[in-house]
Amino acid sequence: MKGCFIAWATDDATRKRGSSGGFVSAALAAALDSKLVDNVLVLKKTSPYKATQIVTNDPKEVLECAGTLHFVSVNLAKYVPPGRVALPAKPCDAMGIIERAKRGQLDLDDVYMLGLNCGGSLHPKKAKKMVEEMYDLDPDAVIGEEILKGELILKTASGEKALKIDDLEEKGYGRRESCRYCETNIPRMADLACGNWGLPADKLGKATFVEVITDKGEEIFQNAVDTGYVAFEPASDKAIELRDKIDKVMKGLAEKWHKRLFEPIEKLSDSERLAFYVDALSHCIGCGACRKACPVCTCGDSAKCLTEGDSNYKIPLFLMVRLLHLMDSCIGCGRCEDVCPAGIPLTLIHRKFAERMQKKLGYVPGINLDKPPYFEGGRIHEKN
Ligand code: SF4
Ligand code: SF4
Ligand code: SF4
Repeated sequence: MKGCFIAWATDDATRKRGSSGGFVSAALAAALDSKLVDNVLVLKKTSPYKATQIVTNDPKEVLECAGTLHFVSVNLAKYVPPGRVALPAKPCDAMGIIERAKRGQLDLDDVYMLGLNCGGSLHPKKAKKMVEEMYDLDPDAVIGEEILKGELILKTASGEKALKIDDLEEKGYGRRESCRYCETNIPRMADLACGNWGLPADKLGKATFVEVITDKGEEIFQNAVDTGYVAFEPASDKAIELRDKIDKVMKGLAEKWHKRLFEPIEKLSDSERLAFYVDALSHCIGCGACRKACPVCTCGDSAKCLTEGDSNYKIPLFLMVRLLHLMDSCIGCGRCEDVCPAGIPLTLIHRKFAERMQKKLGYVPGINLDKPPYFEGGRIHEKN
């Protein structure tokens, strides 16, 4: 059963509500229906710009949550409840979950991750501004959105309008900065990897390309088929090739963005670079929102970064400790920057510190299941 398939929800309403044939919602609902899991963690949309994470055991409620959410940037890793649970997981959700599992926050054997291919998400506030300025539309008139073939398509009651994501990003809109250089687009660390990449033209919007990766993935896929929630056919070699090709294009684009955003910092002299960090971080107002939003932060109230420090430093001691402590585990999800009221480019700075360390240690957080986190596992000392 492991391998690649084209799958869709058998129920008409779910198929239509879901952006890619409703497979993920149907498989989640089936898992609840057959008691394969106790709960499903899912985002409930209240508008194209807002969704709240809910934990539910009601298959009907799960099916109602079908649909795209590119304008919402929540990371679900922090909300995984105890017990057997299934959830849709972008690569950064899955990476956060794996890092949390390594820190004893959850048992990975109990978590079914229905991975979602991801080319990026938009910050809701910026998305609204972009809708007004680039699409010349009232943000409240948008009833749906979709990313297809490099375009962001907005749907209103009177029709659709599509603009190239490249053009939006040149104008300072489009995907969050962290998503532009994120190179993990297909979540192969999850149990399934689902998306529309590789679908033949006649199946676009009507089905999902599903890669079944793990035994748990096989279990949840087979369960969805056996309970009649899902139908499927094998993916052709051509579809598999097409998905790989799209993945390569996305990786190439991410590399270009990485160069574009990181090179200017790398080109600075040591003293200029230090001045850049000090200036950026000195705007911190100490609200703690970045720590609360970070999916790999698991220290709780005993966090080292919360220890009172000398308030005369230009950079709060809190941030300096966080930067150092997350060097082994920052997954680049962008949540810290999303929530920072001071507009500090936190993800860029965290990644700048973390990439160097992670490269040196040969440790990719959120991907490798066998290695313990270096700081917590003491591996940093073994290596030196
Ligand atoms: S950081 Fe990567 S995985 Fe997360 S939303 Fe952005 S592109 Fe997707
Ligand atoms: S430091 Fe920021 S980018 Fe890194 S894992 Fe935490 S929230 Fe995500
Ligand atoms: S969210 Fe921004 S302002 Fe608040 S503590 Fe973090 S860095 Fe400082």
